[in-house]
Amino acid sequence: GKPRYQNLELQPIAGQWRVGSAERDLNVIDPFTGESLLSLPMASREDLDHAYRAAQTVQAEWAAMGPTTRGDIMRRAVDIFDERKEEILDWLIRESGSTSIKAEIEWASARAITLESASLPGRAHGRILPSDVPGKESRVYRAPLGVVGVISPWNFPLHLSARSVSPALALGNAVVIKPASDTPITGGLLLARIFEEAGLPQGVLSVLVGAGSDIGDAFVEHPVPSFISFTGSTPVGRNIGRLASGGTHLKRVALELGGNSPFVVLADADVEAAVNAAVVGKFLHQGQICMAINRIIVEAPLVEEFTQRFVARVKALPYGDPKRPETVVGPVINAKQLAGLKDKIRKAQQEGAEMLVGGEPQGNVIPPHVFGNVTADMEIAREEIFGPLVGIQSARDAEHALELCNSSEYGLSSAVFTRDTSRGVQFAQRIQAGMTHINDMPVNDEANAPFGGEKNSGLGRFNGDWAIEEFTSDQWVTVQHAPRQYPF
Ligand code: NAP
Repeated sequence: GKPRYQNLELQPIAGQWRVGSAERDLNVIDPFTGESLLSLPMASREDLDHAYRAAQTVQAEWAAMGPTTRGDIMRRAVDIFDERKEEILDWLIRESGSTSIKAEIEWASARAITLESASLPGRAHGRILPSDVPGKESRVYRAPLGVVGVISPWNFPLHLSARSVSPALALGNAVVIKPASDTPITGGLLLARIFEEAGLPQGVLSVLVGAGSDIGDAFVEHPVPSFISFTGSTPVGRNIGRLASGGTHLKRVALELGGNSPFVVLADADVEAAVNAAVVGKFLHQGQICMAINRIIVEAPLVEEFTQRFVARVKALPYGDPKRPETVVGPVINAKQLAGLKDKIRKAQQEGAEMLVGGEPQGNVIPPHVFGNVTADMEIAREEIFGPLVGIQSARDAEHALELCNSSEYGLSSAVFTRDTSRGVQFAQRIQAGMTHINDMPVNDEANAPFGGEKNSGLGRFNGDWAIEEFTSDQWVTVQHAPRQYPF
């Protein structure tokens, strides 16, 4: 194979690979071993300004390169995803505590959105509209937005950066990424190496490694980017929305925020299938997924059977070192998340939930936890968990289950199990969520399907045709071919 990427402490800033100039280092830590993987000088506000200005300078030339050229670069990037698969998986496992299963899923998702992006330039067409005005030709031109700022989280760093970066670039924008501080390599630096190797012109993509609390505001408020694509928590997203419309500017934002996905098992469900879906939909990546199951809601007649079978499966899940291929539940990302999750476990017990599966954390690894007798007012049901814990609630009937689903401030993904498909569809249409999966887990993301949330889960949609809407703008241009008859 190819030699691995070297000198990953360098960031592509304004067309140059160099270290950040903030004179402060970021330590990249393996969440399982606690070992330092890399020490990396962080980017300053000055670096940020350079990156944005360079992006602005080169963007028009990049957009003018035409759909086939931009599509070809995306396709080459896909080839590099394939050639460097082992290297990418290795970084995902070491930097973000991903198990092999999750790393493979993440690699495949990032690859798929990049492949989808290869076709976007040719699909981003304008229109000719019929006009009521005699002699008028009414055109709609579709143009790139210009410069896009991308802020991504640590849980699926490669994919959640790629799902903004690949379509934004393909559609002729220049991009600056600020990856999460826990995952600068998989959240930005690897992607930049891949695109450079694929032939992306210099300066079209910059990566700034720095703390959100330090350069975050400046990243959003800088005059150059006209669009901020943010994926992360609801409080930070809310603040970004405010900043993007403050001062003297008004920027577009996409906000992909937290979730509290309900997983509903109706009384006519296939329990075995539901249990299989629930185990993966909850414990994939230790539950650190925005769409992960946050509440299991079972119609009363099935609660006991579902709970018994689910608990039996969860007790058998191998947890621990993500470098062992059989591990299903690895470490949570850092000590702060660990402490927050320990609090949630304590709180659940204090509030009267019954711990059916548990165990002492070792390092950052929390054994899977299941709670029974959970009610909607408990913290474990109300708040986003983002860890390997889950509670089971009982619903009197399907209506009650729906009421419980919709009682959340969030509305990202959801799932319902029933043998009656049309009943499932009716249920889905009444759930306040951007995504609902019938007889499957809520964790689903496909490169051609609209991904996004309602309520406090955010604004905007990713993927496929929806990426074209997000990363381009429409301009109405008319041509009056014959003199127009004016009213006066
Ligand atoms: P987070 O704390 O909001 O961080 C996300 C990103 O925002 C990081 O890059 C972070 O940088 C940056 N940031 C922090 N403060 C900032 C500020 N003041 N201005 C600008 N940027 C700032 O979220 P997280 O803990 O990393 O991720 C978990 C959350 O993301 C969960 O709520 C999860 O549901 C959500 N999520 C949503 C989706 C979705 O598609 N809807 C997908 C995945 C995750 P630093 O790392 O330097 O602080």
